[in-house]
Amino acid sequence: MTTHKVLVLGAGYAGMAAAIQLAARVKGRADVEVTLVNAHDRFTERLRLHLTATGQPVAELSIPDLLAGTGARFVRGWVTALDPDTRTVRVDDDRVLHYDTLVYGLGGVAGTVPGAEEHAHTLNTPEDAEVLGRRLAGLGRGTVVVAGTGLTGVESAAEIAERYPELRVVLLGRGEPGATMNTRARTYLQAALERLGVEVRSGAEVIKVLPDAIELAGGETVSADVVLWTGGTRAAPLAAAAGLTVDDRGRVATDAALRSVSHPDVYAVGDAAAIRQGYGVLHGTCQSGMPTGVHAAVSIIRALRGEEPKPFRFGYYHTPVSLGRHDAVVQFTHPDDSPRRISLTGRLAARYKETVTASPWPTYLRMKKMPVSGAFWPRGGRFTRGVR
Ligand SMILES: Cc1cc2nc3c(=O)[nH]c(=O)nc-3n(C[C@H](O)[C@H](O)[C@H](O)COP(=O)(O)OP(=O)(O)OC[C@H]3O[C@@H](n4cnc5c(N)ncnc54)[C@H](O)[C@@H]3O)c2cc1C
Repeated sequence: MTTHKVLVLGAGYAGMAAAIQLAARVKGRADVEVTLVNAHDRFTERLRLHLTATGQPVAELSIPDLLAGTGARFVRGWVTALDPDTRTVRVDDDRVLHYDTLVYGLGGVAGTVPGAEEHAHTLNTPEDAEVLGRRLAGLGRGTVVVAGTGLTGVESAAEIAERYPELRVVLLGRGEPGATMNTRARTYLQAALERLGVEVRSGAEVIKVLPDAIELAGGETVSADVVLWTGGTRAAPLAAAAGLTVDDRGRVATDAALRSVSHPDVYAVGDAAAIRQGYGVLHGTCQSGMPTGVHAAVSIIRALRGEEPKPFRFGYYHTPVSLGRHDAVVQFTHPDDSPRRISLTGRLAARYKETVTASPWPTYLRMKKMPVSGAFWPRGGRFTRGVR
């Protein structure tokens, strides 16, 4: 009997969902082997990295503990190369892992501008968040510029301002904070930032990060003791370097079943994948990332049985945004992510946000016992029907 080797790269929200779903479904089978590779053995709750950056503790969630008893193998290491021709992956340069089917879930990081790598902090990894945490804790007084008015920028600016009221916090970027929300939610979000003392500058395009300032298009500079860069998104260069077809952000282009369009033995999930739905390409979120992982796992099981995988369908349902520890806005959305009329604000929204943020780990634990419990998410109705 030959063994089919499934290798899952990245134990983020999407890769973890794929690995645990697969492991639970093939438990006890000798003909399928599941291996998960990740940089850390602790699960990174990316949704809480702005808490780490402001010195607040987060839970210790052990990936090997979660996989225990499923038969899946865990390899801790940094994936340095992928060779789709030989179906091999290199880990920490010197270790080679073979696969028959690959699940590519290495996530994404913020975009960049000249000077950002040298002079700006990011929330790309837990280590980055810890470095920023130490810098902010030792700053005393000064100016923190948070570049990027997207939701990561908003949550980070609010958290820093609440935690360190003696600091001047400037949130700066192209768009208006909360731009995708309805008027009520957006107004609430902007008033909360004002209450926390965050200075907002929208319509500003950062073109360079300097050692003690940022430079805007038009030549103006804004002084900063610390710059946190949150603008844009890009995927790791690994997939493109391996010759997989990627989009302009380096995300793996997928077919309707989440397989790479150039290499169908590779499934791509989460932020690392460019996944098209009827309303456009998914933008990176945890709410869509976990379903992509589950769908890839279920598709692999179907393919092993000789069945065709089904198309992936997903519709958004909310945008929860924290505004410090006691306040938040939750914008409920149509499946295409456009805002509905209803939104939650204040303490109730903060509780909702916390419930959502805490939910992935219990979901994995449930899936480990009952894989089918992971298969429920909004499919998007008419917004996703009949795509490709
Ligand atoms: C501060 C912040 C707040 C956010 N808030 C929200 C929110 O409220 N709601 C929401 O839906 N989304 C939110 N997001 C976005 C969300 O975190 C991402 O969309 C989500 O993490 C994507 O999941 P993923 O599994 O694709 O990637 P990730 O969660 O980034 O996981 C990728 C995994 O791969 C590992 N990895 C990467 N490269 C390698 C390598 N070469 N070798 C080995 N391992 C590697 C990483 O260590 C990580 O474990 C937020 C993001 C940030 C930064």
